[in-house]
Order: sequence, then structure tokens, then C-alpha cells
Amino acid sequence: DGPPAGRERVAIVGAGLAGCLLAVLLGRRGVPVTVYERRPDPRVAGAERGRSINLAISARGLAALEQVGLRDQSLKQALPMHGRMVHPLPGAQNFQPYSADGERAINSISRAELNRSLLDTAEATPGVTLRFSRRVTGVDTEAGEILFEDADAEPADVVLAGDGAYSAVRRSLGFEHDADFLEHGYKELTVPPRDGGFALDPDALHIWPRGTSMMIALPNLDRSFTCTLFWPKGDFAALDTPAKVTAYFAKHYPDVAGLMPDLTDDYALNPVGSLVTVRCRPWTRYGDGAIVALLGDAAHAIVPFFGQGANCAFEDCIEIDRCLTETGGDWRRALARYEERRKPNTDAIAEMALDNFVEMRDRVSSPVYRAKQAAAHALERRLAGRYVSRYELVSFSTLPYAEIPARIRRQNLILAASAAGGAAVLGLALRAARRR
Ligand code: FAD
Repeated sequence: DGPPAGRERVAIVGAGLAGCLLAVLLGRRGVPVTVYERRPDPRVAGAERGRSINLAISARGLAALEQVGLRDQSLKQALPMHGRMVHPLPGAQNFQPYSADGERAINSISRAELNRSLLDTAEATPGVTLRFSRRVTGVDTEAGEILFEDADAEPADVVLAGDGAYSAVRRSLGFEHDADFLEHGYKELTVPPRDGGFALDPDALHIWPRGTSMMIALPNLDRSFTCTLFWPKGDFAALDTPAKVTAYFAKHYPDVAGLMPDLTDDYALNPVGSLVTVRCRPWTRYGDGAIVALLGDAAHAIVPFFGQGANCAFEDCIEIDRCLTETGGDWRRALARYEERRKPNTDAIAEMALDNFVEMRDRVSSPVYRAKQAAAHALERRLAGRYVSRYELVSFSTLPYAEIPARIRRQNLILAASAAGGAAVLGLALRAARRR
């Protein structure tokens, strides 16, 4: 059955964030691997217009990057954001720290830079071969071949598909999956530097919650901000003249409209992207000629409202590497174990990401929400380590995602007791929490 262990021809499809990290991890364990990427080398060709210029990377992503020695370098290319700056309408902007101690930050990083660093590291790793401009169309799991558009098939015994949310490998093999598209799409806009400096506070992720629509902005190293406008897809087209765009922004985003000199051009030229949750099972296929596993967005694309898609994709790579260690390099057992462990976690973050959309576009601007946040942070400080908010567990810990909802439910009982205000009740709750 196939080549002997350790002699498999291993291929990765997609030199995106997950594909590159996995290539480095495999190269380092002495597994030769070929990476096939449909685009030309982005280090030469440059990025596409209006496509998610920056990402928030947090504890999980950093822990994974640390394993390949890229944590510090990545942080040097990033800007820390210690909280949300909420811009209500009407009202003054207000800052909400992400952590109870105000110290922890998520990191705004250029997706293109991060991909370049990972490509450089992959290229420098012995055993890793990068092949650009190779669009994969499918895998023949019986013949053990990867199929390409415009090129001959190439042999592969193990195919790891990190080819993104619309994965050609997933489609070609008919993996059973649902792709739930949100009614909302997104468009990227820019706030350029003003007088050589940042036009908004660079230490925050800015949010303009507007009910059905919402805009966010993340800072870039060049002192600009990339804004992302989320809106029901059908509504984007209504702003079909520069005058309508200007008037709409002046009304709904008055404090930032004046900071966007290219607003009407950006609005007209930048595409409307889709937001999809992909739920797929299984992620693995065991043919006589090749075994295939999906990872990253190909296995579980999620909506971006928790800033976790890339962080989660990186965790997949670490898990594959760990399972290979645990099984002594037995790919079949390792990939089965990887899927079994990761699937509950990726299901959990998919739900939390959808839920966070409602939180960001509605709840963050409500005074009740802010009071609850303040109470939760006070409790966190009081119970150091025993009461931790969902945001902190997702963004500042590596606790498996699947364990977070149950932990939050337990903690919410304590929070409810505190909100009820009874010192006696709170005392009991605190004692109960200390006992845990
Ligand atoms: P991708 O990064 O999509 O890489 C897939 C690669 O495969 C690409 O290089 C592509 O060219 C290649 N490819 C595709 N098809 C083929 C083919 N047929 N043959 C060969 N190669 C192919 N995540 C966060 O962690 N934090 C954030 O703040 C965040 N913000 C986001 C904001 C937006 C608007 C969006 C849309 C996403 C955001 N994400 C965020 C999610 C994050 O971008 C993804 O989860 C992450 O990029 C997944 O990595 P990946 O390697 O699985 O896929």
C-alpha cells in the first residue's frame, strides 16, 4: 500500500498563510515537500487591489509563528491594538480595552508582508520546493497524481490542500460541505496618513457600529488605516455616483468621511468581497494512490469578526506537525488524528465568529454592554486567571476553541450574580469560583 513510511511524495496546494507555514514545519522535520501556488510569486508580482490588506494576529498565530522562529520578526512588522475604539452615532468615540489589565493587544499586520516572510522562510528551508503559477484543478486519488490547468499531472502520495475558502481540491473530490454565505459583503477603503502621522489612534481597532452595516479600521505601518465596510451585498450598488457615496459617508460616518480623500475612487474601484462559513466533513480522503487532507480556510473558512481565520489556520499546521510526531510519521494515522482533534475546535470558532458580528455591529455601542464589560473586567482583575472573558480566551490564550463556550457559561453565572448586586451572592460566587 503506497510507498514505505518516510518515502512519500508530499505536496501542499496553496502557498497562502497555512500552506507556507506547513511547508516550513514539514521541511524542518525532514519531509521533502513541493508547494503548488496558482499565483505568480507575490514577492515579485505584488498584491491584488482591495483584498484584505491587513489582519489581526493574536496569541494562537504568534505561538505558531514562534515555532518557526518568525514571531519576533512578525511583531516588528505589526502594530499592537490594545482595544476597540468605538465611534457611535451620535456621540464621542470611546476606547474599550481588550483585556482587564489593558496590557494585551492584538496585532495588525500586513497580510502580504506576513505571506512574504513565510515564503522566504519556506524557500530557505531544506527540502521545500515552491512552484508558482501552477493552478491545481484536482487530485486523482487512485493514480496518486495532482492535476493542473495547463500542465501535466505530477505524482503525489500525500496532498495537503491549503487552497483557501473556495478550494479546488475540495471541489474536485466532492468533499461534502456547506458554504453559508452571509448576506453581508465587504469593501476595503483607506484613511491615508494626515500631516505625516496617523489620522486616527493607531493603538486601536476602530469600529463604527451602525446596525445592519459596520465599518472597521486597522492601522498600517505606513501610518494609513485600511477600513473595511460590511454591508448587505445588495446595498453597495445603491451608491452608484460619487455624490451619493460622499453624502452617505457624511451622514453615517461623519467623523471619518473627511479623512478619506480617495473615498469615491476606492468605493467605485474596490471589489465587494464575500463572507462565507465553510463546514466540511470529512476533511480527509484515503485513496489507493494518494491521501488528501484539507486545512485552513479550505477545511473551515469562517467570517472575519473575531480576527481568527489565519490564527486558526496556523493552529491546524501545528496540529498536523504534532500528530506526525505522535504517530512516528504515519500519515494516515496522523491526518485522521488531526481531523478528529481540530474539527470540534474549528466548529466552535466558526460559531463564535458569527456571534461576534452581532456584538461588533450592535452591542458595543450600548451603555449596558459597556457597563457589563467594565464589570467583567473588574471581575477578571479580582479573580486573576479564574474569570477570563471570551474575547481574552479566544485572542490571548491557546485554550482549545471548543472548550471556551462551556467555560464562558460557567463564568456567566458568576457575572449574573455580580450584576444582581447582592454582595452576599457575589461572595458565594467568588468562593465557588475559587474552589474550581
Ligand atoms: P489563503 O490565505 O486564502 O491561501 C490560499 C492560497 O491558495 C492562496 O495563495 C491562493 O492563491 C492559493 N490557491 C487557491 N486556489 C488554488 C489552486 N487551485 N491551485 C493552487 N493554489 C491555489 N484572519 C485572522 O486571523 N485575522 C484577521 O484579522 C482576519 N481578517 C480577515 C478579514 C477579511 C475581510 C477576510 C476575508 C479574512 C480575514 N481573515 C482574518 C481570515 C484569513 O484571511 C484566512 O483565514 C487565512 O488567509 C486562511 O489561510 P489559508 O492559507 O487557509 O488560505
